Amino acid sequence: MTLNLSTEVRMIKGVGPQRAELLAKRGIYTFEDLLRYLPFRYEDRIHFSNIRDIQPNGTYTVRARVMSGQAIPNKFSHNAIYHLLVQDAAGGLLPCKFFHGGYLEGRLKSGQQLVLHGKVEIDKMRPARLEMINPQLEMLGDGEPDSTEVGRIVPIYEAIGTFGSRAIRRAMYAAVQLIDATIEDVLPESLRARLGYPSRRETLIHVHFPEQQESLEALNTFRTPSQQRLIFEEFFLYQLSLALDRKATRKENAIPFRIREEKIREALKRILPFKPTAAQKRVLAEIAADLEKPAPMNRLLQGDVGSGKTIVALEAAVIAIENGCQAALMAPTEILAVQHYLSARRTLAPGGYQVELLISGLKHAEKTAALERIRRGEAQLVIGTHALIEDQVQFAELGFVAIDEQHRFGVLQRKRLMDKAASHGHVPHVLVLTATPIPRTLSLTLYGDLDVSVLDELPPGRTPIQTRLTSEPHLPGVWEFLRKEVAAGHQAYIVYPVIEESKLELKAAMEEYKRLSREVFPKLKLGLLHGRLSSEEKDGVMESFRKNETQILVATTVIEVGVDVPNATAMVIEHAERFGLAQLHQLRGRIGRGAAKSHCILVGPARMTEEARARLETMVRTANGFEIAETDLLLRGPGEFFGTRQSGDLGFHIANPLRDKDLLELARREAFALAEDAQQSSALQRLLRQLPPEWQRRYHLARIG
Ligand code: ADP
Ligand code: MG
Repeated sequence: MTLNLSTEVRMIKGVGPQRAELLAKRGIYTFEDLLRYLPFRYEDRIHFSNIRDIQPNGTYTVRARVMSGQAIPNKFSHNAIYHLLVQDAAGGLLPCKFFHGGYLEGRLKSGQQLVLHGKVEIDKMRPARLEMINPQLEMLGDGEPDSTEVGRIVPIYEAIGTFGSRAIRRAMYAAVQLIDATIEDVLPESLRARLGYPSRRETLIHVHFPEQQESLEALNTFRTPSQQRLIFEEFFLYQLSLALDRKATRKENAIPFRIREEKIREALKRILPFKPTAAQKRVLAEIAADLEKPAPMNRLLQGDVGSGKTIVALEAAVIAIENGCQAALMAPTEILAVQHYLSARRTLAPGGYQVELLISGLKHAEKTAALERIRRGEAQLVIGTHALIEDQVQFAELGFVAIDEQHRFGVLQRKRLMDKAASHGHVPHVLVLTATPIPRTLSLTLYGDLDVSVLDELPPGRTPIQTRLTSEPHLPGVWEFLRKEVAAGHQAYIVYPVIEESKLELKAAMEEYKRLSREVFPKLKLGLLHGRLSSEEKDGVMESFRKNETQILVATTVIEVGVDVPNATAMVIEHAERFGLAQLHQLRGRIGRGAAKSHCILVGPARMTEEARARLETMVRTANGFEIAETDLLLRGPGEFFGTRQSGDLGFHIANPLRDKDLLELARREAFALAEDAQQSSALQRLLRQLPPEWQRRYHLARIG
């Protein structure tokens, strides 16, 4: 049979049904899919390093033969260390050490040809000796090696299950041979030519098998023209989906609100319990300008923990209500929904507005009654969880929606809430509130279809939180400190790393709660808050803490978001090393909300990884959310930054919004210009079909196409 790019991968020599299945799990079915699986690194196998020239702390690629190899059990871990001795053609000897190398036992025969790539260090036991630590290893075949293995710059791929880099490279070599001039280019020709990018054909060949004279450094930093083109392409398609979505939203109708009226000014003044900060005033003006337009607002309100986002959202809600509409506020957890409900009722009481709570924990009769009031329009501001987007919820006239802590909800849920009002011929204005300070490039990527407002000022009268890092042996002193805080009339949180709310994790937290109540704080009242409590139980626990009936609240990460008890001035975070920076910042934001000085104590193990220490020291050094976010990005990379769910959603293979900022900005400009260009609509239609399905789904592109 003749092979072409749409041939299934299992047809290739050396792939077969088993490997085809592994590939299918990664969405790779055809040769063309395979070509999208890119190398993460390149290795110069034309100029191997001579073992005799190797210096400590350098990274080298050597070609050598196995002299001897042996796994030696490791008394610090159940996995053995594999010791390997190799020799290159010039006679140089190099010992190598593989931690967790037990799997190599019996696999490397003496005389086996290898390519090893890794960092060389001084042997700590024998300082005169150098050794390569945890090298990447590739076995060469017997006899003359394949042209895909040596004599060129070779691509190194992340293994897919048991399908290793070398085997992937061979399959890729076969796939590359099939690329001919007829392969369709994703980018419009005029754009490609203007930006000076190579054709798709050239690009695909070069990213897998670069020219001999290509700079290894450029390749490994993703800066060759072919790599840059692929990065651009990913950003471009993604930004295009955002641009089209935004265009479609703009065509939808929203109710333009009257704002410049004495009645509304009065209403806003009535609900404000304090003088707004300059930032709050500026942001409200930005929001008001959107609300006056007949196209829906789609705005992101970024503001650090405690910057006062809620009141801004409530002001916008009042504008909607005064214009005869309903408003909704969606919170990510029941605790937060209830808390918003209580404080909104307090705030809106002077205006006489009807506030409704809708969470799944309501009793059946209560819920039916609430739904009825929402349907009839008597409920003017509805506060709830995702229960708000259930089918049975029908608004009489929903004009404004605020979504708190967006990145816990998907973009899809935001759309769903907007669609709730669509049956009335208009969509609501939407304000997304987030306390996650997102560096600009990433907010362009994630929220590229939103306008952005920033609350960059904290309300006055806050005393900075003092943060300390300590270790478990010092816990008795920490408990003593809490006793003093409580004796002074304050309250405290003790946070446990129950992150998944799994049974096992919870058990540990509950036992610790019992122990603390009985042995450590026998004279105080403690509360326990975790995600597996019913909503009534959670309310009960929060209510007693709010009223200072319990002085210490032992809690899991459920308190991370929004909990607001100004009298709580101390927080102890146990096993702090297990939390991410963003999470620690959110947790710490629960204190420092009143006038008294607050203290945050991070408790870690005596020994921890450098990364964990860097994280905790960042928390000690700064309280600035943007600085913390930047550090988080540096330490963990953009994928991790948003948690696995989000990074999976983004679906970039080669593009990295941080490293490739400039290309992101360029792609954004080009994509938004193309989306507006009526002349280009056929090019657009063609491009749309190329969008990865997850991007199409996410942005409801069907309704445009
Ligand atoms: P976040 O941005 O974290 O959601 P909140 O809206 O919960 O912040 O506000 C944090 C606290 O600050 C609340 O207790 C709120 O009442 C108070 N607050 C907000 N704005 C001001 C202001 N302008 N002056 C004084 N206190 C304010
Ligand atoms: Mg908030």
